[in-house]
Amino acid sequence: MAESYDVIVIGAGPAGYHAAIRCAQLGLKTACIDEFVGPDGEAALGGTCLNVGCIPSKALLDSSEHYHKANHGLDAHGIKVGDVKLDVPTMIERKNKIVKQMTGGVAQLFKANKVEWLAGHGKLLSDRQVEFSPLKKKSKQTLQAENVILATGSKPIDIGAAPIDEDRIVSSTGALEFTEVPKRLGVIGAGVIGLEMGSVWSRLGSNVVLLEAQDTFLAPVDGQIAKEAQKVFTQQGLEIRLGARVTETRKGKQLSVHYEDKEGKQTLQVDKLVVAVGRRPHTDNLFHEDTGLLTDERGFVHVGDHCETNVPGVYAIGDVVRGPMLAHKGMEEGLMVADVIAGKPGHVSYDTIPWVIYTHPEIAWVGRTEQSCKSAGIPYATGTFRFAAAGRAVAMDDTVGMVKIIAHKETDRILGVHIVGPQASELIAEAVLAMEYAASAEDLARTVHAHPTLSEAVHEAALHVHRQAIHRGN
Ligand code: FAD
Ligand code: NAD
Repeated sequence: MAESYDVIVIGAGPAGYHAAIRCAQLGLKTACIDEFVGPDGEAALGGTCLNVGCIPSKALLDSSEHYHKANHGLDAHGIKVGDVKLDVPTMIERKNKIVKQMTGGVAQLFKANKVEWLAGHGKLLSDRQVEFSPLKKKSKQTLQAENVILATGSKPIDIGAAPIDEDRIVSSTGALEFTEVPKRLGVIGAGVIGLEMGSVWSRLGSNVVLLEAQDTFLAPVDGQIAKEAQKVFTQQGLEIRLGARVTETRKGKQLSVHYEDKEGKQTLQVDKLVVAVGRRPHTDNLFHEDTGLLTDERGFVHVGDHCETNVPGVYAIGDVVRGPMLAHKGMEEGLMVADVIAGKPGHVSYDTIPWVIYTHPEIAWVGRTEQSCKSAGIPYATGTFRFAAAGRAVAMDDTVGMVKIIAHKETDRILGVHIVGPQASELIAEAVLAMEYAASAEDLARTVHAHPTLSEAVHEAALHVHRQAIHRGN
């Protein structure tokens, strides 16, 4: 007889492992299948995020920022540093150790919560059966579940003009593995990955050129914030070429990237090229056609508000379904679905999912942009405050950027908060909570903020919505 479970989760990225642990906590017999294999040839939990995404990219962003500061940021503090040397293999090794620690941590959590880890490929069959193909054995097993959660994540989009070989033309995964600093680095796509990986290698000494197809820089970001960020990144040495359509790449001694922009045909010579033009849902060999599982026109598994698919008892969460491709969005969906399966109420506040781009300065936002308020015809007021006028930012010598709050003109309810500046990733949490509780700009303005902190910039921006800021003209 087939081994049976209350829940089988396919995929152990942030979405899947959160779902699995919460299901087990709720007393459900749970197995989690994942096929990821780490560089040491061993199965590893944690999916894209822990292995080749959020965590390793942040490890390199932090290391490269230390190097950059040691070279450029300490003189003003009266700290003279001698000959600063770079050891890229050690930097990469540190990143690998962090990944190992985090993925091992998930394995321990599985053990502690009695989630059964099945290393291999999972495929949904009809009647909530799952075919499991173990990594290290040829034989397949058929498992039975009351509920199945698909959490198979996403993969980089490949474009014909620059096929990824993970050697000279790499995805984000390859860009986390360079063992020396490329003299000239091209990046196709000036989105989140392009800016983060471009920043890492630029700080370490690469000449980085980003080729972006759109005419607008960071189109999803509030226009005022994106403009500010573009100015700063350009000053830092990132060359951002907008309206650039890559037509062909040619591999010779150097890599030639041919593209067209409004000035005509152009060529860029680089040593390495990162392709970061977005990601697609990962549904390869995930379900048998007999299941009748519906996907949408872009390949995402079709789900409703509670991540239920069209097949009873089958749910899908994380990057493989609609919504932003963010780890924390998938985590929350995982917890919601586990609660729903256990008969409890479950909910995700999709309107208050924060975004962060971990450049320096960081960019973080939640809710509506000014352009989206305009196009939806929503009456709004804005308040802004620059870090240059915040005592803590001045003391830190980290004064670039601003906070911008958008509130409803009539009700004063906060509609969006946008930050470009130091520690924006941490500052945005206050805005998320405020919006989750339907706060007004006045609520934020009347909340006591410690002095001197960067969060005072949020406070002052809230005061400025009603033209009552203290440390700026109103
Ligand atoms: P994934 O993490 O992709 O995990 C899916 C897992 O399922 C994988 O292990 C895969 O091997 C496995 N799998 C797939 N199909 C099968 C199958 N049929 N059988 C068995 N196993 C299968 N997001 C943030 O919020 N913050 C960040 O800072 C951030 N940085 C990023 C940096 C980079 C370079 C990249 C690439 C992404 C980053 N992201 C970040 C996005 C984040 O990684 C994803 O949103 C997140 O990993 C999605 O989680 P998931 O659980 O849906 O899928
Ligand atoms: P993205 O959507 O952020 O950016 C892709 C960029 O490539 C866009 O600006 C797009 O206009 C451009 N583009 C598309 N096709 C192009 C082409 N042919 N030529 C030139 N430019 C082209 O996607 P990404 O940077 O690949 O990242 C994928 C996803 O991973 C992100 O959307 C995000 O959900 C997630 N991610 C999140 C973080 C984070 O939260 N800090 C970090 C990395 C990745």
